[in-house]
Amino acid sequence: MSPRPDLGPKPRLGYTASLLERAAERRADEAAIAAFQNDPRARTYVVGGELIVLKKAAPVNEALFTLAEARALGRTAEIAFLGLLADVPRFAIALDPPAAEALKANGDFVVSDLRSVAVRALVGVDDLPPLAEGKALLHWHARHRFCSNCGAASNLVDAGWRRDCPSCKTQHFPRTDPVVIMLPVDGERCVLGRSYRFVGSMWSCLAGFIEPGEAIEDAVRRETREEVGITCGRVAYFATQPWPFPTSLMIGCHAEAKSRDIVIDRSELEDARWFDREEVALMLLGKHPTGLTTPPTVAIAYHIIRAWVEEEIDFR
Ligand SMILES: [Zn+2]
Repeated sequence: MSPRPDLGPKPRLGYTASLLERAAERRADEAAIAAFQNDPRARTYVVGGELIVLKKAAPVNEALFTLAEARALGRTAEIAFLGLLADVPRFAIALDPPAAEALKANGDFVVSDLRSVAVRALVGVDDLPPLAEGKALLHWHARHRFCSNCGAASNLVDAGWRRDCPSCKTQHFPRTDPVVIMLPVDGERCVLGRSYRFVGSMWSCLAGFIEPGEAIEDAVRRETREEVGITCGRVAYFATQPWPFPTSLMIGCHAEAKSRDIVIDRSELEDARWFDREEVALMLLGKHPTGLTTPPTVAIAYHIIRAWVEEEIDFR
């Protein structure tokens, strides 16, 4: 076996390790939430659909607004309580997407999608987890304003963590969609794929939604078989990452490949092939001879791939 390459210090996985205390027990306390909103220290993130609004600043932009500042930006919809940071309330407010779009022309603001905010480090890393929390939650509200049981208009309750139907009394809770993201490996080799939507020469892990009634391990094996025709045996859990595009939870795994021949599902993937450890290390280091790259360090795919390059995967 070739020696493991030195890839340097490990970067932080994006959107994880939130410093907020969610204080879920306070959500149903309307008086407490009203007091939080009136607290002069309270701050909110501003989400306009897919766009995040930031105050332009150097060296990083400011992601937090007072509630009055946020409401002055344009027409707003739901406001959700994200939690407390050292007892100071943090919210996320939904700004009308066209109003967010219009702010792109205003030099006082930086308006960008949340992927770019993370990849281009447009805010401090500690703002990324609450931005992910707020964006996913507000996206759910924007698409669940009517009861899925009877069709009546529903109401926001519990400071943004539930919607109630006044007609049929059904309670609706924010959803999170589990996605498996995996690297099939066989000793010194792994399989990477290219989705049609990937930029430039990026290659990454395979991924797919977990279906109802399906275990994580079974989803890993099914998706790998469907996308590249590889049969997998044991599956090792790696880590998870909230992925607010729109409301996913990425469940990172390594999978033990039991077959070699790749059969690409062209409806899903542009390409897929085996890579050896040395080639992948060069990709991670940004030194690949033909410029192939892995996903950026904020994404769990980078960390899944890197873990296989650096460490022995423990398939139990
Ligand atoms: Zn209803």
